Amino acid sequence: MGVILRPRFFVEFPQLRGGFSTPLLGNQSFSRSRVPVHRTRLNREHLARVLGISAEDFVSPQLVHGKEVLLVGEEHRGNGALAPGTLVGDGLITGVPNLFLLTTQADCLPLLFWEPQAQVVAALHAGRRGLLKGILREAVEKMGDFFAISPEFLYAAIGPSIRRCCYGVDRETCEEFRKFSGGRYIYFREDQFYLDLAGAAKAELLRLGLRQERVEVFSECTCCGPYFSARRDGQQNFLTQANVIGVKV
Ligand SMILES: [Zn+2]
Repeated sequence: MGVILRPRFFVEFPQLRGGFSTPLLGNQSFSRSRVPVHRTRLNREHLARVLGISAEDFVSPQLVHGKEVLLVGEEHRGNGALAPGTLVGDGLITGVPNLFLLTTQADCLPLLFWEPQAQVVAALHAGRRGLLKGILREAVEKMGDFFAISPEFLYAAIGPSIRRCCYGVDRETCEEFRKFSGGRYIYFREDQFYLDLAGAAKAELLRLGLRQERVEVFSECTCCGPYFSARRDGQQNFLTQANVIGVKV
């Protein structure tokens, strides 16, 4: 296992820096109370060194499982980078180079977006709640509104997250999800419902106009694989991976 997983489109566009961190880079979120801030700061600095960037160029919001996607710029450089920041939302978009968008997760879906013409990037944290609230639509529409980006030109990657092998839910949660997914991406075994959030997210991206060949889904499961997992490690104890994207010039 490497320290960071890189989407395929990063190979095609070498100006991109980022990817999905693995537990080898340690906890990446300042909201985990059992990890001292200085320890997470060291982990962020290590992550930045691996990416060949400065940790002071990260921008990272406080996550709330909503659908808010924020447009960030020069004035936000370093916000939430090396200490808890002031931005609140679950997604970031920017067209500013050398600004590296960072969200964290431990089972929820990490998403990275890139549009090469406008040189725009986005990073999202999308769990079941964010998906149902429409965070993917919000992100794609905002990139259209602010940068006149057409979804067919977007590249997207969905990183390691809890998969249908481990994401068991109760009937009520399942019924709520059914309305979103149209009854698809739900599995039943041994008296339990299981959801395929990554599958549903990819389908939503295709509905929004992204092209099949430009949406990559990593198959790794955070819960039964070698990743931090909230489901497996417990709400009090879990640590987090980072997903990062930015253009280095
Ligand atoms: Zn699993």
